[in-house]
Amino acid sequence: MQETTTHILIVDDSEDDALLVSAQISRVVRNTEFLRVDTSAALRQALQGKHWDLIICDHAMPQFNSRAALEIVKALGSDIPFIIYSGQYNEQQGIAAMQMGARDFIQKDNPARLLPVIQRELSTVHLRRAKEQAEMFAESLSRYDDLTRLPSRHFFRELVEEALRETRTEKHKLALLYLDLDRFMRINDSFGYQTGDLLMQIVATRLKEIASAHILARLGQDEFAILLDHIEGERDVQQFVAKIAQRFEEACSINGQEFFLTFSVGACICPDHGDDAVTLIKNAESAMFTAKRQGGNRHHFYAHETNTTVSRRLRLENALRHALERNELYLAYQPILDLNTRRIVSTEALARWQHPEFGSVPPSEFIPIADETGLIIELGEWVLRTACAQTRQWHAMGFDDISVAVNCSATQFKQEHLANRFLPILRESGLKPEHVELEITESVAMHDVNHTIEVLRQLKAHGVQISIDDFGTGYSSLAYLKRFPIDILKIDKSFVHDITLDSEDAAIVRAIAALAKAMRISVLAEGVETPAQYKFLAHEGCHRVQGYFFSKPVPPGIIQTMLQQYNLSPAYQKRKHEAQVAQLLSSHTTAP
Ligand code: C2E
Ligand code: MG
Ligand code: MG
Repeated sequence: MQETTTHILIVDDSEDDALLVSAQISRVVRNTEFLRVDTSAALRQALQGKHWDLIICDHAMPQFNSRAALEIVKALGSDIPFIIYSGQYNEQQGIAAMQMGARDFIQKDNPARLLPVIQRELSTVHLRRAKEQAEMFAESLSRYDDLTRLPSRHFFRELVEEALRETRTEKHKLALLYLDLDRFMRINDSFGYQTGDLLMQIVATRLKEIASAHILARLGQDEFAILLDHIEGERDVQQFVAKIAQRFEEACSINGQEFFLTFSVGACICPDHGDDAVTLIKNAESAMFTAKRQGGNRHHFYAHETNTTVSRRLRLENALRHALERNELYLAYQPILDLNTRRIVSTEALARWQHPEFGSVPPSEFIPIADETGLIIELGEWVLRTACAQTRQWHAMGFDDISVAVNCSATQFKQEHLANRFLPILRESGLKPEHVELEITESVAMHDVNHTIEVLRQLKAHGVQISIDDFGTGYSSLAYLKRFPIDILKIDKSFVHDITLDSEDAAIVRAIAALAKAMRISVLAEGVETPAQYKFLAHEGCHRVQGYFFSKPVPPGIIQTMLQQYNLSPAYQKRKHEAQVAQLLSSHTTAP
């Protein structure tokens, strides 16, 4: 560490005396710098020009004295230790000086006291200086983000305030952009925080290049903000956002893995959308949420109605807390068809919410809220209980080979004793675990691979079927996939959608079907809407389909009608009857 210099100011009319004192001090204190003054003007100038650690003052000088010197020091509000060192000084004067704020007084005929007093004073000075430095360091740490060295949220707010003060006098416009990386959590979940951190550094470097003339800050894990100075209007912002998007067309590569990143950007303009830092940041953030809700990879300008969207979220969250007890939730079931037998083999239970004020709230809106607030635990258990009871009823009606698929969210899956919570619900329902398919999304499964293996094994040991939902949208590692005890891969509907138009999507679906075959597991395509898609999937060896082509999610009564229509056909009944006879025969032959 660099050694600091101690600055000592000597107020004395005698150059020789000053030299003598400084020589004495230099012998015991390293790195000292001295200055001698002997008038009030010179003292003032010295005090204003530099920081001093100690003042040693003679008492009586031709044009000056220690009392006047002390008054000057105190008038400047300074608390530099002040020591009087004089030949003509008595005890009473000394006490009076100490009452005025001097730290000590020493008579020149007793020089042995000088050094210990100076060392004592300097040690308190050094202590204080170390404390100040530590405080400054802590302040600088909170001002800058560790990972990217960009200003933090707190410091950004100060910088914006400062820019706004100038704007007020110069009357020009500013824009504040709030950037949030799309799907960053998924990358973090699948590749771990280290990769996430490396990516953040690349993102920061690229943004620094683009925003070199502006203020850039990192506000949160994957959130950045830019303050654009001197803009004419929205067009400037649009051009700037386009520049960012263009820069990120190039993949970010980490250890050979390529990531294509996009942002959701919220923008607001000062003074049109606010004229203080807190409001501007808040409004840009709510505009960013709108961009995100619209699918990401876009920007949105703050409009006053965005606030109602934000408060809608809060109102929904509150309403959701009472939804279960007020019986506002119910389940719809979407049939899943076996392509070989053309029969319904399963149904997916999908939560629905009908609220008296909000009307029907889509699951894409309320499930994430339930997941973030933890309400999903209670909601998910209710779904499982209700779906099992319903399926048990269908079994009682004779459709005793159909299963039910139930979704399990990230928060539910992260629970430590998931199996302990799920299995008793199954037991109570009387439905065999073999008839329950638990759907977890690919990204949830990849989040904590060891936990996933552990939980899936426990469930599997009791016979529960495991299905990987939205497959193809996460970043699966095949090595891990192989270790998961899974029964079904559900190809995400985004691939199925363009299967007959887009050769890449077709290739992906083909690859997933081949993978499932190699792993000897069943493959299910969701979101099948057209006969062409259905044919393609049948041709590629897909086992099951689910989608509007066959049926939308419907109330249980309609499922019952469908079961009667599809699962009670004569050929089916014949085969079922044969199977029952075979079972009967085998139980007779094996009986003692
Ligand atoms: P998911 O598990 O992937 O469910 C399939 C979604 O695709 C359902 O949307 C379904 O209505 C929709 N879908 C089915 N066939 C088609 C089709 O042919 N075309 C199109 N475009 N869409 C189709 P839904 O019901 O809106 O649910 C959305 C998501 O909400 C579900 O996606 C699931 O992740 C979540 N969700 C729904 N209910 C629950 C629940 O009880 N628990 C949990 N944890 N999540 C749930
Ligand atoms: Mg699902
Ligand atoms: Mg899905």
